[in-house]
Amino acid sequence: MEKFDAVVLGGGLNGLATALALGGRKCRTPLNVAVVDRGDPVQLVRSQDDTRASALTYATQEMMGGLGTRDGIAPHLQPMQSIVVSDAKAGAARDTLLSFLFAEGKPPAAMIENVVLMRALLAEIAQSSTIKIFAHETVGNFNFGPGKAVVELANGQKLKADLIIGAEGRASPSRVAAGIKMDGWDYPNSAITLSVGHEMPHGGRAEEHFTEHGVFAILPLTGNRSSIVWTEPHVKAHEICGLTELEFKALLERQFGAHLGALSVLSKPQVHPLAMQLCGSFTATRLALVGDAAHVVHPLAGLGLNLGFKDVAALSDCVMAAASSGEDIGASAVLDSYNRWRRFDTFTTAMMIDGLHRLFANNDASLRLVRRAGLRFADKAGAMKAAFAKEAAGTAGSLPRLMRGLAA
Ligand SMILES: Cc1cc2nc3c(=O)[nH]c(=O)nc-3n(C[C@H](O)[C@H](O)[C@H](O)COP(=O)(O)OP(=O)(O)OC[C@H]3O[C@@H](n4cnc5c(N)ncnc54)[C@H](O)[C@@H]3O)c2cc1C
Repeated sequence: MEKFDAVVLGGGLNGLATALALGGRKCRTPLNVAVVDRGDPVQLVRSQDDTRASALTYATQEMMGGLGTRDGIAPHLQPMQSIVVSDAKAGAARDTLLSFLFAEGKPPAAMIENVVLMRALLAEIAQSSTIKIFAHETVGNFNFGPGKAVVELANGQKLKADLIIGAEGRASPSRVAAGIKMDGWDYPNSAITLSVGHEMPHGGRAEEHFTEHGVFAILPLTGNRSSIVWTEPHVKAHEICGLTELEFKALLERQFGAHLGALSVLSKPQVHPLAMQLCGSFTATRLALVGDAAHVVHPLAGLGLNLGFKDVAALSDCVMAAASSGEDIGASAVLDSYNRWRRFDTFTTAMMIDGLHRLFANNDASLRLVRRAGLRFADKAGAMKAAFAKEAAGTAGSLPRLMRGLAA
């Protein structure tokens, strides 16, 4: 039986960040950490199969410094210099209702492709002697203690640890095995994601166009490229992705508009069903959940991954404080403080995002009028815009060490 301080289940962005936050070279006292993934994160990055890109808040970018990945991601970050929100049929003459122009050097968020972020996390993990990855493995049997926790891999190998971290995404088997319930609902829509190239520079402008099905977002990537998040009802989203390349491009051009010149499709479009789910608790005996294993939110505010990284940073604060004073890192007092820290913040953020979705993804004529009047008012209200910029930067509320740019 191999022994570790912590075993992270799931090697997606949140699982890899957790491994670095507990066992990376930058940690003051690195723990021994195992990461178990049913696939191979290294192969996933090579295959470029994830076409998503993420808006990283200022606080998350600070965290990347604390994890040792700042140099790996810096050349690939595209700052969002401005955001425009419109309430219009896609492609038609769009009526801007709300706009944000951020001072040079002070944008609250920057875009990056998920595979680039993952590559930087994996490069840092490769330099860390205390992190071991078990690829192409799943857990066949969970034993969460109350003594040490033991997970038995499907190949029969047993891993023993003080703490198990569930980071396997929305279907999290460790969460299910611990009996933690998820509350929430599925949205009737899916998001199509892809990257496009365009003739003209975007100038760091992010566009969010709200149709009756949700958002059609054009999010700036480095160079003359943008990431698209295109929301449609499930069946239609699959139909669109089943079109021939020429048909797909023609439809995309109609949605996108002609303002950035000729378009080229740079990646195969992918469909992601959208949901809102919140866990009843972030913890159980010797188990902590992070990322989509604990919460799934609508992508319209670009906050899902940032919420997950905040889980990772908060868990790291709780666990590293216990480790440095020689306490059991999987003790219920340690996990309770993590649960208290993350539950309220996650709940309020998820409700805010769901409220925005209900307000915007709606074709009701009277709601449209209220929405337009509200957005026009907000557009003129400087204090409201400043509060939004702080939320978007992820710097509101109490921040864990990593999100203040400090080592774990
Ligand atoms: C269209 C779209 C756009 C988005 N845009 C943004 C954005 O701009 N900003 C933002 O902050 N967030 C965004 N998000 C949310 C963000 O992408 C997710 O919150 C994030 O990727 C979740 O990461 P994760 O590591 O928790 O889970 P996942 O990415 O699901 O990773 C789970 C990992 O666990 C592994 N795994 C699964 N089951 C098992 C098992 N049984 N055993 C072992 N391993 C297992 C998988 O192989 C995978 O590697 C967006 C989401 C969508 C759908």
